[in-house]
Amino acid sequence: MTVGKRGILFVLSGPSGAGKGTVCQALMARQPALSLSVSATTRLPREGEQHGVNYFFKSTEEFRTMIANNQLLEWAEVYGKFYGTPRSFVEDRLEQGIDVLLEIDIQGAMQVRCTYPDGVFLFLIPPSATELRSRILGRGSETDESFQRRFGAARHELQQMKEYNYVVVNDVVVSACARIEAIIQAEHCSVHRNLELLNEW
Ligand code: ADP
Ligand code: 5GP
Repeated sequence: MTVGKRGILFVLSGPSGAGKGTVCQALMARQPALSLSVSATTRLPREGEQHGVNYFFKSTEEFRTMIANNQLLEWAEVYGKFYGTPRSFVEDRLEQGIDVLLEIDIQGAMQVRCTYPDGVFLFLIPPSATELRSRILGRGSETDESFQRRFGAARHELQQMKEYNYVVVNDVVVSACARIEAIIQAEHCSVHRNLELLNEW
């Protein structure tokens, strides 16, 4: 990466159960130079989730204070809970020339697109509706109502794919990661991000 160059902001969305969390974790293991933003949320931790690693788990009051203090780059209510991206982490990393990955919902991604039109927007989808159903159920963390809500939202969410730059099918985790890595490389090679090369000639 060229000295003094800003990092690229990558935003990954997709229906609940598509495998966003799984793919992001696998990607981080393969791409240590990429920085994953940890979101704040008012939802309860799932088994095994850790504060500061998977999310910053907040009360609704704490979350509202973050909004009031302009500490969130974007935020949205998703499936009845609040989720948001801490602003300073993202801004600092990009300024330092480090690429940042956000794993956020569609409403949040559309907000980010307004502030970072230069960001790269990726949509992760499962190979089929049947597979999506079994992934959400297989996670074993949803109540019946929460499952219905998440699975029911998927059809509408898939329509939003058109707002994104890339679609990645998460059939096999390593294959999905390889596709995302190829996108990251391609974006680094895009002409509009490399116009300073002309000056060197
Ligand atoms: P999301 O973050 O999009 O809601 P998760 O990462 O929690 O989805 O994945 C949902 C479930 O599907 C998890 O149990 C996960 O282990 C499983 N999963 C994710 N990707 C794959 C894949 N490519 N093949 C099979 N199972 C997967
Ligand atoms: P989950 O509860 O399954 O971890 O996440 C539910 C949804 O919230 C997912 O679509 C996930 O992408 C989204 N989400 C996670 N963090 C954020 C965030 O910081 N902002 C927004 N807008 N959505 C988020």
